[in-house]
Amino acid sequence: MSVIVVENLRYRYPRQTHLALDGVSFRVEPGEFVGIVGPNKAGKSTLCQALVGLVPHFYKGAIGGRVEVAGLDVHASTVAEVSRRAGLVFQSPFTQMSGAKFTVYEEVAFGLEHTGIPRDEMVRRIEWALRLLGLWELRDRNPFALSGGQMQRLAIASVLVMQPEVLILDEPTSQLDPAGTSEVFAAVADLCRQGMTVVMAEHKVDRIAAQADKVLVLDRGQVVAWGPPGEVFSLD
Ligand code: ADP
Ligand code: ADP
Repeated sequence: MSVIVVENLRYRYPRQTHLALDGVSFRVEPGEFVGIVGPNKAGKSTLCQALVGLVPHFYKGAIGGRVEVAGLDVHASTVAEVSRRAGLVFQSPFTQMSGAKFTVYEEVAFGLEHTGIPRDEMVRRIEWALRLLGLWELRDRNPFALSGGQMQRLAIASVLVMQPEVLILDEPTSQLDPAGTSEVFAAVADLCRQGMTVVMAEHKVDRIAAQADKVLVLDRGQVVAWGPPGEVFSLD
C-alpha cells in the first residue's frame, strides 16, 4: 500500500497565471527515500508544502487533483490532521525553531507540550528522537550555539518527535557546508533504515543520485522524469 499517492496535482498561487504544479503524479511506498530535484522555481518547494496541506487554496481554481498521505485525503483535511501523518522540515532551521528555548532538549519537547501526551511518553519520545539524530550528548546545549548540520538535525528531531509516518524535507542542506550536508544525509539514511518514509527536495543532485531509492525530476511544475536514480540520470 502506497504511503503517498499524488494524482494529477495542479496548483496555482494567488494572482499568478501559471501553474506552480502542473499535473504531478507519483506514488511513494513505505520506507522509500524519494528525492525531488529540478531547477529553481520548478515547483519543489510547492510540492513539499502541498504534501502536508500547507499551500493556500481557499480561492477559486487554486488546486486540483488528489493528494493522499497515509490514507488521509490531504485536500479534505485540516493541517493539524495532516501533521500527525506527515512532518515537514523547512530549508532554514531558524524558520522552525520556536524562539527562546534554552536547550536542545526543550526545543524538541516544545512540539509535544500541547498534545496532551502523558509525561512519561513525552520523555521516552524525546530521548528516542534525540538519539536517532545523534543529539543526545548535545541535549543541554543552547540550540543557537550548534553548528548548521547539528541545527538542521535538531529541526528534524523536532518534527520526528511527533512520530509522523512520512518525513518531508524542503532543501534542508541549502544553507549547510559539505560537512553539514553529509550529516543530514547520514541522518536521513539512518531514518530510512528504521523504516521511515522520506521525501526530500534537494538541489545537490549528486547526493540524491547516490542515496535516494527514487528520484522525481520537476521542471516548470511538471514531472519530466521519475524512477530509480540509475534510470533517471542516464537519460541525459
Ligand atoms: P511569473 O512567473 O508569473 O512572471 P514569478 O513566478 O517570477 O512570476 O513570481 C511572481 C511573484 O511570486 C513574485 O512577486 C515573487 O515575490 C513571488 N515568488 C516567486 N517565487 C517565490 C517563492 N519561492 N517564495 C515566495 N514568493 C515567491
Ligand atoms: P522551487 O522550490 O523548485 O524553486 P517553487 O515551488 O518555489 O520552486 O516555485 C514554483 C513556482 O511557484 C514558481 O513559478 C514560483 O515563482 C511560484 N511561487 C512559489 N512561491 C510563490 C508564492 N508564495 N507566491 C507566488 N508564486 C510563488
